Amino acid sequence: MAAKPDETKIAKLVRELLIELGEDVNREGLVKTPDRVAKALSFLTYGYRANVNEVINQALFTETSGGMIIVKDIELYSLCEHHMLPFYGRCHIGYIPDGKVFGVSKLARLVDVFARRLQLQERLTEQISKVVMEEVGAKGVGVMVEARHLCMMMRGVEKQNSTMVTSSVLGVFRDNLATREEFLNLVARK
Ligand code: ZN
Repeated sequence: MAAKPDETKIAKLVRELLIELGEDVNREGLVKTPDRVAKALSFLTYGYRANVNEVINQALFTETSGGMIIVKDIELYSLCEHHMLPFYGRCHIGYIPDGKVFGVSKLARLVDVFARRLQLQERLTEQISKVVMEEVGAKGVGVMVEARHLCMMMRGVEKQNSTMVTSSVLGVFRDNLATREEFLNLVARK
């Protein structure tokens, strides 16, 4: 686990960055900006310092029905590691339990642990599926992330309406076509 970043040091670097960008760091609106940016960046990367076991906090419940559980539309906000610009969207998680299930809010908090750091959408999707698989001991897991990347929308190709979709399937979701299709159909339904 990473140490908490030195926000005073980050603020100094942000101040230098603003000067290099041609800003007057003494004008009223910018005086406190370096401190605010440091705090924001620290929060937006708290996932580096989060402990998955603490987040889950043994909130697993016994469940014997064995059907597929789907939690749709978990809000997701992250930063792309190439530009440090936000990408945001929704995450859908499905799994087939093997005797144990998560509390619903825990899944959302798990998503945040991996989203609150510099990320690639593909890696984020895989990390979520792996941790659900491992922590709940599921028979299979499917994760789909649909997100918009500001680095694509605001600059470069400026494809404002494109959404990137990534998925990761493990266990029976990978091995069994019918299970995978059931998951994809359920998350695609609006
Ligand atoms: Zn990017």
